[in-house]
Amino acid sequence: LDRISKDVRSNLMRAVRTKNTSPEVKVRSVLHRLGYRFRLHRRDLPGSPDIVLPRRRVVVFVHGCFWHSHSCKHGSPPASNIAFWKSKMRQNKERDRRNKRKLQELGWHVITIWECEIKNHELLRVKLAEQLESSSISH
Ligand SMILES: [Zn+2]
Repeated sequence: LDRISKDVRSNLMRAVRTKNTSPEVKVRSVLHRLGYRFRLHRRDLPGSPDIVLPRRRVVVFVHGCFWHSHSCKHGSPPASNIAFWKSKMRQNKERDRRNKRKLQELGWHVITIWECEIKNHELLRVKLAEQLESSSISH
């Protein structure tokens, strides 16, 4: 009994931790409060965007600064194995660019939210609101 409850507890804790700390969840809650409806992880779209607003033809990617080489202080490769990381990060960046272009060709407006932008809640809210407004003008 003890062992089972321990497993259950640790599973629960893991689930809670993932849920609460996920940058994607924060972006979702801001969108929700702005009054937008969305779907998650449309795997039929290039790059399987994290959040999709089908009626507005908008997709949102929530990118980790490290893996997607953001131009902020979190986006540079680690000091060891620098050649490996550089090539890995370049591949990610190229894939991001390719997916973005494909989505745009299909008529989607692409919004990229960086992990470092999520820490400032007000900044995130303003960015999402502005980008979504400009997306509805262009369609
Ligand atoms: Zn960043």
